[in-house]
Amino acid sequence: MAKQVVTRTYTASIRNQQQVADDLDSLGFSASKLWNVGRWTISRVWDEIDYIPEHDELTAYLKSHERYDDLHSQSSQRVLQELAEAFTGWYTKRRNGDTRANPPGYRKHGDDHPRSTVTFKNKGFKLDTQYNRVRLSKGSNLKDYWSDFILCEYQTPPDVDLSTVESVQQVRAVWTGEEWELQFVCNVEIEVSEAPGEKTVGVDLGINNFAALAYEDGHSELYPLNCLKQDDYYFNKRLAQCDDSDSEQATRLNQKKSRRRTHYFHTLSKHIVQRCVEEEVGTIVVGDLSGIREDGEDDESKDWGTHGNLDLHSWAFDRFTDLLTYKAEMEGITVEEVSEQDTSKSCSCCGRKRDANRVERGLYVCDECELVANADVNGAENIRQKVSPSLACDGGDRSNGWLAQPSVYLFDLESGCFAPREQATS
Ligand SMILES: [Zn+2]
Repeated sequence: MAKQVVTRTYTASIRNQQQVADDLDSLGFSASKLWNVGRWTISRVWDEIDYIPEHDELTAYLKSHERYDDLHSQSSQRVLQELAEAFTGWYTKRRNGDTRANPPGYRKHGDDHPRSTVTFKNKGFKLDTQYNRVRLSKGSNLKDYWSDFILCEYQTPPDVDLSTVESVQQVRAVWTGEEWELQFVCNVEIEVSEAPGEKTVGVDLGINNFAALAYEDGHSELYPLNCLKQDDYYFNKRLAQCDDSDSEQATRLNQKKSRRRTHYFHTLSKHIVQRCVEEEVGTIVVGDLSGIREDGEDDESKDWGTHGNLDLHSWAFDRFTDLLTYKAEMEGITVEEVSEQDTSKSCSCCGRKRDANRVERGLYVCDECELVANADVNGAENIRQKVSPSLACDGGDRSNGWLAQPSVYLFDLESGCFAPREQATS
């Protein structure tokens, strides 16, 4: 066992949601407006001189803009930084030949602005762990004559105590689609174990199978989402029966639904880390999904919000990756995020890119080498190979379809655990 200081993000609910929601809304809308101003500025510069400004150039340029003062200066800076990062990410993809990559879009739906995440750095917040309160600074434009901050009463999960962390680096106000919540980014000292081994596993996160795992030795596992889908169906039906979506009953149902989802993510991340310990894995490779945050509007295949009737937002994947990282760290396992570029298109066996290759009923079929693999497992294996290029199927019998028959783990509602399902024949 060794001690190590790591970064942890803790999510807290806001107890006085009703009192602070309007103020947080205006900050969230302002962040979207500033994003759009920055977005417009970048495209102007790009058109004029073929150059994408860095975030500090963008900040210097927009500092005097009216919208910049809607938020605390550090919060405005962070919005422009995220925008610049999104552009760099897009530009890198383009340079690497991904012609389908789109630049980050505007944050606008008709005349409405979505509620963007607002980040508060050290000068922008004041934390009072004794009374579980945090003061979040507004920008000078949004200050009312009686207050220049929003006072949130927060509630952390029972296992989190902010008064014991080394330091709180930032606070983020995040709109979940239903309400505002807070994320505290902290430095924490933890005890870590020796790594269980040196093997790698690739993890592909998605909406049909929430997670597909491809281990180095070739076996694979799937974690379908049907349990969450059933849950969603049940809760949405009950919610539809509520007369008023703001009623106490509806609020209770929504809270219950989100608690069950959080429980599912906790249990799944714990289970996966446990499996990695058993399989002597030292590195978990996860596809970086940050791209889906910005290109929701212009890419049909990335329309995660509405797909499959499951309103899983990209933050659910972010949160899951965080949970997985924390639990893995405790076991001495590293989590690496890699770009998902081409991981669903390429054959994990011979490397041939799709177009001619097909996906049929969830199976990836390669023309070249005749690989037949579960499409999500093929993606997971490609993700794994970005860190550890050894071919899992090298030398093996490719025609037996081992990648096509992953073990399937289902969430058992009775026991609250994941249990293997007997291999189903489709
Ligand atoms: Zn192939």
